[in-house]
Amino acid sequence: MPKQLLTAAQGIHDRLIAWRRHFHAHPELGEHEEQTARYVADELRSLGYEPRERFGDTFGVVADLRPPAASSGAGPAIALRADMDALPIQEETGVDYASQKPGLMHACGHDAHVAMLLGAAQLLGQRRGDLRRGVRLIFQPAEEGPGGAAPMIAGGVLDGVEAVFGLHIWSEMPLGTLGTRPGAFMSSTNRLHVVVHGKGGHAAMPHQCVDPVVAAAQIIMALQTVVSRGIAMTDSAVVSVTCLQAGSASNIVPEFAELRGTVRTLSQATRATVLARIRQLAAGVAAAHGATADITLEDGYPALVNDPGIVDRALHAARQIGFTPDQLLTLPAQAGAEDFAYYAQKVPAAFLFLGARNEAKGCAYPHHHPRFNIDEDALPLGAALLAAFANA
Ligand SMILES: [Zn+2]
Ligand SMILES: [Zn+2]
Repeated sequence: MPKQLLTAAQGIHDRLIAWRRHFHAHPELGEHEEQTARYVADELRSLGYEPRERFGDTFGVVADLRPPAASSGAGPAIALRADMDALPIQEETGVDYASQKPGLMHACGHDAHVAMLLGAAQLLGQRRGDLRRGVRLIFQPAEEGPGGAAPMIAGGVLDGVEAVFGLHIWSEMPLGTLGTRPGAFMSSTNRLHVVVHGKGGHAAMPHQCVDPVVAAAQIIMALQTVVSRGIAMTDSAVVSVTCLQAGSASNIVPEFAELRGTVRTLSQATRATVLARIRQLAAGVAAAHGATADITLEDGYPALVNDPGIVDRALHAARQIGFTPDQLLTLPAQAGAEDFAYYAQKVPAAFLFLGARNEAKGCAYPHHHPRFNIDEDALPLGAALLAAFANA
């Protein structure tokens, strides 16, 4: 069936565009995807599915498709995942289907993800007899934060799932390309927050004070050694201090100084090493100055690690629907983060980027930009790919 999948997906191009533009015009923030989820569930019902709504106490929507009883349909299923949430951005594209909600925009392409997975639902539903195993369609909320994957997994969305595939539309890559990498693909994140407590007083008599500004400055410099002196050249990490706040006047030594920043790594082991070193340095440098440091390293998403075998299956499916070797890109690991990582921690997974850049159509702005847009010719490619992953 793979070759015909792309032809069939191109045959529903208008419908894919209509879906995508509907979601684009009606964006909803993470954890508020009530209308989006209802629309998705209604469309799934019209395609013959029996979706579960409010999945695991989220606005997630889940639908299963099983092969006909005669074949081996009782085994583990393949899961296909799309995210549904938008961003707090005022749209500036000027398109006639632009966001109807001030300050809200689908600026990461999740509108396309929902449309492509609905398209795959239609293609697969029409080819149920060809299915080798069950398929689970996962429409998840809140990828941009605070995270929808973890609560859906807690709700049991991966029970009985053998492998999970995810596709992100990508404006950095030309239309017609598909990119990924086996192993670590996207980064973990931690928010760094350090409050250095000293002893305030008159700036003319610093010997009576414990100056938290000087201690904070030395902590910032010490943190520059976390990666440069602590991480092997074959590994990588980022520690960025982005915010330093202290004091209110030129003649007062303040009581405290505050640092904020972000930490990125590509594995749980490196993450643990980096976080431990940050704690050690911040506490130690503060103590050396007679100050104390309250250190918070709040977990964001973990690193997204692709299973090499599942990546191979995804690329095989892509070749079967017509992607040529020069359209399949091996990408470097990305500093961005994705909550698809939680699925990949539980079952073997592959996450891929689908190119949607086209300068001629004005689709060349980065993700999260007010003029972000995609070449909608990527939609049938994505729908066909997701459908092909189901039998990969
Ligand atoms: Zn995004
Ligand atoms: Zn995204």
